[in-house]
Amino acid sequence: MENHLQTKDWGLGLNGHLIIAGPCSAETPEQIEKVCLDMKKENMIPHLFRAGIWKPRTRPGSFEGIGEEGLTWMEIVRNHLNIPITTEVGNAAHVELALKHKVDVLWIGARTTVNPFAVQEIADALKGVDIPVMVKNPMNPDLQLWLGALERLQTVGINKLAAIHRGFSDSYDKRFRNKPNWSMPIHLKREWKGMEVINDPSHIVGNRAGILETAQRAINFGLDGLMIETHHDPDNAWSDAKQQVTPAALKQILSKIDFRETAGSENPGERLNDLRTAVDHLDDQLLDLLQERFSMIDQIGAYKRENHLTVFQSDRWKYVMESRTQKGVKKNLSEKFMKELLYCIHEESVKRQEKQLREADPVKR
Ligand code: PEP
Ligand code: MN
Repeated sequence: MENHLQTKDWGLGLNGHLIIAGPCSAETPEQIEKVCLDMKKENMIPHLFRAGIWKPRTRPGSFEGIGEEGLTWMEIVRNHLNIPITTEVGNAAHVELALKHKVDVLWIGARTTVNPFAVQEIADALKGVDIPVMVKNPMNPDLQLWLGALERLQTVGINKLAAIHRGFSDSYDKRFRNKPNWSMPIHLKREWKGMEVINDPSHIVGNRAGILETAQRAINFGLDGLMIETHHDPDNAWSDAKQQVTPAALKQILSKIDFRETAGSENPGERLNDLRTAVDHLDDQLLDLLQERFSMIDQIGAYKRENHLTVFQSDRWKYVMESRTQKGVKKNLSEKFMKELLYCIHEESVKRQEKQLREADPVKR
């Protein structure tokens, strides 16, 4: 999949990483104004101002968002900061109200992305509208659901699309509110050429202290922007108090991040080019070795057939796994990587040999 306009073409005057900041929820007009004034004072003006108007809360009883009235306060943001605004929509009614109040960019939250009915309802409400939409990852690490939501939007003609990595629900890992899965945005980028992924460290870490580290990791992995919840008085925020930062703290965080460039294939530096050429040669050698290894596997397969042996031999498998993993670890390769690699190679070997048996001795019907 490909073909959509990247964030630099959304008309936000963007050139580089997209920075989205603003409170978890719009609470009062005074709160919105205070956040704007503090951003101005710190000269910490994001590209996009976020504020939740409808809050999908896990349990009822907590603050569920101020509703339509909050959208009228977005004028305050436009007046003070003169920047576009973004909010979360969870159904067609939200879309209608957000469009009525001229919200510039929409996002779909994690609890909505899991539900194709809801995403389709939002997509249908957006048919024929030219507005950028960002899609947060679903609560569970399911790449297909994430891609599916983006596709539903593309199908109705939304061509300004981006994804947001906000981590995945994992009740066992207490280090994170929503555990990051860095291979997921990378898979998404592989599956959908040119798709940008913004990182939301606030909802990943769930507390102020860890935001910098997670944001830096996101940039290291090549993600394209940051969404960080920002409030003038975080401790007294009506939602997500623990994870919001002041505009001054946000400025500090951003100044500490080493924003890396994604070296485009058009003009990588000379040293990078040399290193990549070396890797290309090594990959060729790896492929030659794999070809040779599988030709041995085929010969072993022929032997097993002639001698009426089963394809899978558990003692041999155990020996291969253990000895290679040990060797790999000594060569500074992780145990997890070694196991995954060996499983993958072994599975292919077993399949080839089984296919050999099937083709040489077809079942007589
Ligand atoms: C939010 O951005 O405030 C929010 C509710 O996020 P998520 O959908 O990632 O939980
Ligand atoms: Mn929040």
